[in-house]
Amino acid sequence: MKRFILLFGFTLAIKCFAGEAKDEQIHNCPFCMLPIDNVGPPKHLENDTISGFGMNVSQRRSMFKAMGAHRFFQHHHSHIHPHQHQQPHHQKKKRSMICTRFSCRNLASFSVLPKGAQSYVNGKWVPAASGKIFDVYNPYSNELLTKAPDCEVTDAKQAVKAARDAFEHWSLGTTAKQRGAILQKWAQIITEKEKEMGEILTKEMGKPWPEARGEVLFSAGYFEWYAGEARRIYGQIVPSASPNREHFHIREPIGVVAMITPWNFPSAMIARKASAALAAGCSVIVKPAHETPLSALALAQTSEEAGMPAGVFNVLTTSAENLPGISRYLCETTDVDCVSFTGSTRVGKLLLSQSASTVKRVCLELGGNAPFIVFESADLDLAVKGTMSAKVRGSGQTCVSANRIFVHEKIHDKYLDKLKAAVAQQVVGDGMDSKTTQGPLINGKAVEKVEFLLDDALKKGAHLVCGGKRTAASCFQPTIITNVSNNMEIAHTEIFGPIIAIQSFNNEADVLRRANDSRVGLAGYLFSQNMAQIHRVTRRMQVGMIGVNEGLMSCVEAAFGGVKESGLGREGGPQGIDEFTQWKYICVQH
Ligand code: NAD
Repeated sequence: MKRFILLFGFTLAIKCFAGEAKDEQIHNCPFCMLPIDNVGPPKHLENDTISGFGMNVSQRRSMFKAMGAHRFFQHHHSHIHPHQHQQPHHQKKKRSMICTRFSCRNLASFSVLPKGAQSYVNGKWVPAASGKIFDVYNPYSNELLTKAPDCEVTDAKQAVKAARDAFEHWSLGTTAKQRGAILQKWAQIITEKEKEMGEILTKEMGKPWPEARGEVLFSAGYFEWYAGEARRIYGQIVPSASPNREHFHIREPIGVVAMITPWNFPSAMIARKASAALAAGCSVIVKPAHETPLSALALAQTSEEAGMPAGVFNVLTTSAENLPGISRYLCETTDVDCVSFTGSTRVGKLLLSQSASTVKRVCLELGGNAPFIVFESADLDLAVKGTMSAKVRGSGQTCVSANRIFVHEKIHDKYLDKLKAAVAQQVVGDGMDSKTTQGPLINGKAVEKVEFLLDDALKKGAHLVCGGKRTAASCFQPTIITNVSNNMEIAHTEIFGPIIAIQSFNNEADVLRRANDSRVGLAGYLFSQNMAQIHRVTRRMQVGMIGVNEGLMSCVEAAFGGVKESGLGREGGPQGIDEFTQWKYICVQH
């Protein structure tokens, strides 16, 4: 009997490692022998790029293989432990025991989180000097997840001093190759821990676990990309007009960088900045959003495991109450050389003005109001897939969310029918539930904003096609409205929720004028099979990034950023290094 169990377990493990168990029904977990409902991602996610930032399941499997990590992705995807869900009371229902090795643990036992409410400063886990803490909640259940240190300016000064002290050695005492090796190791560790880091992200932010794990792998991708880019920060030698002079231009790290990041991508928005800054030789202080401090702390822990020297990468958490003080200090102190911010345009403007007193480099990745244009010739299946990626991912809480959807009147109804069918597939709920495709909004206030925008649009003549209701806690149904017009708030406001707001148009010049009628210009999308039209429209759209027949364009290799009030600078791609370097001209006479 023992032999049989061993043989069975061994065969099963080999199948899991080989990724061959995808379509099989396995009835018991080989690790703890509890029953499993099925193995593999739900069918609706199987070839879906929503969950993996452009990576489908087989691409992610190859990435695990390349990184030498164990292949438990499929196995764990569908193993959800019901008593971990902590559903709101009115929703509680009895479920059968299903196994997971990861959801069983409570947050305190996660290897990537500190033991207790601590920030990461100068290579050490430290409480706030005041001893104060603040609560971190699960947006789905509203349960208290944990407490984090409520840092104040005194703590920020310690972190800035640590970063300042560490800067010289990191920038001048290490080579680009050595920095790259640490970043590469960091990427590998994150990849190995993606399930755990993904679960933390889901619990603090709410997005479905596959999507959260996609974000964690996306973060690893930035560290990997800039591990290579570190060695390609080239200078220039310009021929001199005099025979005895040489003109060298070298690029230097800008110095100590303060990073202030949002809750909607609690891991990737840090990774996108920090990877480039660290590769260039800068030292870093991260101030994450108070809603989602845990993914930032998990990055700190993994940086230490990767061998990051003390003081080079610091994370300070703070409550909503203390964040304006800390941010102001980071912007105004002469010990910080650059402020890199991702968040709303409103706060970006504030930080820009606060940084003016020290003429700091300020990098801003701000809000959007993306136009999404479906022309008459569009492949409608592609357009609907693009709409779902660009609108429903993250429950519509992404800066590149399709905010204003313009559909040519001749194909409007056909597109709408297909879209309704896709939206009907969505399952809203707890991100840790394997059936969930759309998690909650970040909090009740976010739901109220969505309700206000919807209400205003309906009062002014929009037509509700489906959805429109808050379900459990902060969850909001994916909603389609048509007949949207310019006099509605929803046409001008970043919705940041799962409302698909459709306007119709009948000519290219008119739709371009309407698409560009915005003070922000981050992302834009167009769906067309007319090549001349694609070229005409991409040249004329006033945005920093355009998806042509593509709803999910973010990737580590490309430059992310906007025009107008969507920001200053670019992150990711070869351009991302520019934010954290400055030119120095050296004139040599001989
Ligand atoms: P937010 O501006 O409210 O917060 C972002 C960060 O700023 C957080 O760390 C927050 O704690 C801090 N902050 C908030 N108020 C502050 C104040 N008064 N002084 C100093 N710091 C303050 O934005 P959010 O709600 O966290 O994120 C959503 C916004 O971020 C959306 O507008 C979205 O489009 C934008 N965003 C942009 C990008 C991009 O790459 N362009 C990416 C993600 C999110």
